[in-house]
This record gives sequence, structure tokens and C-alpha cells, in this order.
Amino acid sequence: MTTRTRFWICAFKRDNALCEPELGATAPRQYDCKEGCGNTVRTDTHARQLRDKADEIDRAAAFVPEKLSRRMRRNAGNLRERADAHDATAQTAEALT
Ligand code: SF4
Repeated sequence: MTTRTRFWICAFKRDNALCEPELGATAPRQYDCKEGCGNTVRTDTHARQLRDKADEIDRAAAFVPEKLSRRMRRNAGNLRERADAHDATAQTAEALT
């Protein structure tokens, strides 16, 4: 069993859900959550956590063989890009209500 850290929360709206909840469902099927779902919401805290995780991966990458290290650094870069995308598109809670 693997544990995945998700750096977003679900603002569930059935019609947008990629996890294919049953008709009339009032809750998502979180065990089948799909990245890219339009219901995901990322906060500034999530963006900070993405960067922290990227730093952690980079530190670990210094202790593994080069091929794996490159893959880990690429993964860390992807996490930073997501954090940057959040920063570039973030809206305040007031703007969303
Ligand atoms: S796919 Fe994930 S984010 Fe989308 S509705 Fe389902 S649980 Fe929520």
C-alpha cells in the first residue's frame, strides 16, 4: 500500500468530478481521486508544502545514483512548477465569493 500526499483539497461539485461519483452523490469518491479534476483547490499552504517537498526530494537526490537523482530532481522541479502556477493564478477567497 502506498500513501500519496495530495497538495490540494476537494471542493466537490458532482458534475465536475473525475472520480465518477454515483448519480445524486453528495460526496466524492476520494479513494479514486484524479489529478487534474476541476474540483481541486490549492491554497497558499499547499503551494508552500509543494516547495518543501521539492526541497526534501532534492536533498535526498544527493544520495542516490545519478540516473535516479535526475529523475528525482525532475520530480522536484515539477512540484515547484505547480507551486509557481498556483502563485501566478491564485485568487483571494473574497474574489471567489
Ligand atoms: S476527483 Fe478528486 S478532486 Fe475531483 S471530485 Fe473526486 S475526490 Fe474531489
